[in-house]
Amino acid sequence: MTKKKIALVAHDNKKKELIEWSKLHRDSMEKFEIYATGTTGRLLEQELQLPIHMLHSGPLGGDQQIGALISEGQIEALVFFWDPMEPLPHDQDIKALLRIATVWNIPIACNRSTADLLFSTPTLLYDYERVKPDFSAYQSRKL
Ligand code: PGA
Repeated sequence: MTKKKIALVAHDNKKKELIEWSKLHRDSMEKFEIYATGTTGRLLEQELQLPIHMLHSGPLGGDQQIGALISEGQIEALVFFWDPMEPLPHDQDIKALLRIATVWNIPIACNRSTADLLFSTPTLLYDYERVKPDFSAYQSRKL
């Protein structure tokens, strides 16, 4: 069976928490093909010993790569532990990623409890068929 793809990102002050969380959910993680921004991905690979598709580091475009994959319909869920306490030089990327995940109706977990709920029953996520928004009218609108 083809594995569904998920994306994981954590800002520097949240990386420890994401790693702790992902270790607790390692069995669930195994059921998915995992994409991650560069540094997050490297840490996950070390800690989980699972293959990770590593994109660029977030500030170098990794968040935008994930956004592009979401808009292509490739990613089924996003775990994004962004840092609510510190402004980052690439804050625009946070907004853009959250926006595009919302546009395409992707489940988004921005904190540990939501991520726990999402992954505590991986079959829920695995079997879940999200409604894929139809933007054909938008694409063909007359200007
Ligand atoms: P990183 O990127 O995983 O390369 O640290 C995360 C981010 O800051 O968006």
